Amino acid sequence: MRFDVVTLFPDLFAPHLTQGITRRAFESGQVDVRLWPLREHATDAYRRVDDRPFGGGPGMVMLAEPLETALAAVRADRGELPAVVHFTPAGQRLDQAQVQAWAAGPGAVLLCGRYEGIDQRVIDRHVTHQISLGDYVLSGGELAALVLLDAVARLQPGVLAAPSHEQDSFSDGLLEGPHYSRPEQLPLADGTSVPVPPVLLSGHHGQIARWRREQSLAVTARQRPELITAARASGRLSRQDEQYLLSLGL
Ligand code: SAM
Repeated sequence: MRFDVVTLFPDLFAPHLTQGITRRAFESGQVDVRLWPLREHATDAYRRVDDRPFGGGPGMVMLAEPLETALAAVRADRGELPAVVHFTPAGQRLDQAQVQAWAAGPGAVLLCGRYEGIDQRVIDRHVTHQISLGDYVLSGGELAALVLLDAVARLQPGVLAAPSHEQDSFSDGLLEGPHYSRPEQLPLADGTSVPVPPVLLSGHHGQIARWRREQSLAVTARQRPELITAARASGRLSRQDEQYLLSLGL
């Protein structure tokens, strides 16, 4: 898959694409990321990429012409324009279901806004998807693009040592439960210690799996009860799950 990122700040990307577990996907080209520095597509002698908004008001607007030129260059390079994503607080909130869809697709052009945003005519003419990270305002779309790229890259085959994303939060509609590692007893300064839940040391895989499922249900019910409602509605909870939730008074 290939993502073409149109950005005023291409240098923000390299540190994130060359570190950590997802580096494998980017360096192998499994997730081929190409950067299109917008300033190189400025159409005037001053390399302007922004100007004041018509009608007045604060801030600057990303000019349509450099964006049109950059998109034409991407189209020429790819042969066609695939999905074009605009990151904006007005977009659909990104969730794991969307990430899974992008992870299984051919990629997209990612438009990273800056200033007050980009000229609406570019959005109207080219954008096929608008994505928001959440109900807050970032100073640019680059972090949103990196969030999408990271989430997509970790779902690629072979990127994670084991397919641990299958147990990640949201993959089955619930939040993941807690994790524990060594030591079995965490020593405290007052001479006491905090143990690991004994079931995890039992070696009994069935009981461990059941305990993890119950922890997942409990965390989800406490933190995001609406996800339990959705899991119920879609028939993803077993009778055992329901009995456990009942025992919690839910
Ligand atoms: N004036 C815009 C508004 O009120 O909606 C905010 C512009 S923001 C300062 C600059 C750019 O950051 C936006 O064009 C968008 O690309 C990106 N951005 C800001 N918040 C975002 C969010 N919650 N999700 C995705 N992108 C965001």
